[in-house]
Amino acid sequence: MYYSKLFGKTSKTVSADEESVNAQFLIRGGFVSKQMAGVYNYLPLGLRVLTKIQNIVREEMTAIGGSEILMPSLTQEESYKTTGRDTMDVLFHTEGPGGAKYVLNPTHEEVVTPLVQKYTFSYQDLPLSVFQIQNKYRNEPRAKSGILRGREFNMKDLYSFHANEESLNEFYEVAKKAYHKVYTRLGLGDITVLTYASGGAFSRYSHEFQTLNEVGEDTVYFCEECRVGINKEIIADQNSCPECGNMDLVQKNGIEVGNIFKLGQKFSSAFGFKVLDAEGKELPVEMGCYGIGPSRVMGTLVEVFHDEKGIIWPEAVAPFKYHLLALGREDETFAEAEKIYKNLVASGAEVLFDDRRDVTAGVKFADADLIGLPVRLIVSKKTLDQQSVEMKKRNEAESKLVPIADLV
Ligand code: ATP
Ligand code: MG
Repeated sequence: MYYSKLFGKTSKTVSADEESVNAQFLIRGGFVSKQMAGVYNYLPLGLRVLTKIQNIVREEMTAIGGSEILMPSLTQEESYKTTGRDTMDVLFHTEGPGGAKYVLNPTHEEVVTPLVQKYTFSYQDLPLSVFQIQNKYRNEPRAKSGILRGREFNMKDLYSFHANEESLNEFYEVAKKAYHKVYTRLGLGDITVLTYASGGAFSRYSHEFQTLNEVGEDTVYFCEECRVGINKEIIADQNSCPECGNMDLVQKNGIEVGNIFKLGQKFSSAFGFKVLDAEGKELPVEMGCYGIGPSRVMGTLVEVFHDEKGIIWPEAVAPFKYHLLALGREDETFAEAEKIYKNLVASGAEVLFDDRRDVTAGVKFADADLIGLPVRLIVSKKTLDQQSVEMKKRNEAESKLVPIADLV
């Protein structure tokens, strides 16, 4: 990609109401643009990151047997009356023609349960799981943490359906492992811990995945031995490590990047979803739900991986791997840089080429640090005199000369 042709540029300023590091860097870097509090546009750089996160999640959900679907954002309010969730405070209500009442889905149990019911008749159709990656709508009272807490935000939500509790329990453990894999691939594995949380009305416990970080809104009591946490909301109930009994828990802040629940029969019973067993007897269906917020994960990555100059993207989600900078005034330098760019792209590399002729080297360096691609390559008269480019990793201070012939 030529930087000169990239839609969405870096900027020096952000509106004063953006306090969070993720919003500051993502807006200044040209990744997102704020629409209003809690609602953001994703520009090409930001969309590339979001898509890479989604694809990692998509691969791991597919690997555990999830079938990808896409459900609507708009749903009749009636479905929420069926489950008694029409009075949920985060629900956005809207009206259609003739006063028809709709909601914008904050999550999709009310849609997925009757949908799967339509196609499932016998215990032999189960277990099954479906997932989607889609925007959710929640009327969050506070939306001040950039893309960590949106009123419209991206979520992967997977739902599993089972003929009995053992099958649900078995799948739940498989999903847990898949979640750990996702965070490991995202570069957050070491600081993301399985946390016991209150399951509310559904079950005694649900599990969250909390990325330990000082900006996190949640308080986690964390066992350093087992790397497992307890959310503050259940600490009165459970005040030692649920795995080893250790009472010496460390208090940390966490960002909730995932949440898995055993829903049991709550939604299936509301919709009368049962299957027939081998004898033709009706079995109530057991359900689980499993959420990850790719947009919150993107904000979390910025909170975790940055320095005072900008973002330091992990390679797995960086919008491009290489940031190629052409420096100086000579036409020849730019022509050589373009050749290198084309060769790299032809070899399959993802490259952002800063081909601007009208800005100083200082501006290009500052933008490269702000955007935070993993590897910076500099082409200048000086490097070309040695048939080389200067290579520097974003997370290292030292640069080295690499012969152009060795690059591709
Ligand atoms: P929170 O406790 O942070 O409000 P939640 O428990 O209501 O979140 P879930 O309904 O479990 O969230 O949603 C699943 C996942 O979706 C969360 O783990 C998080 O990653 C993401 N998520 C939830 N709410 C938001 C939001 N307002 N903005 C961005 N991501 C969100
Ligand atoms: Mg939650």
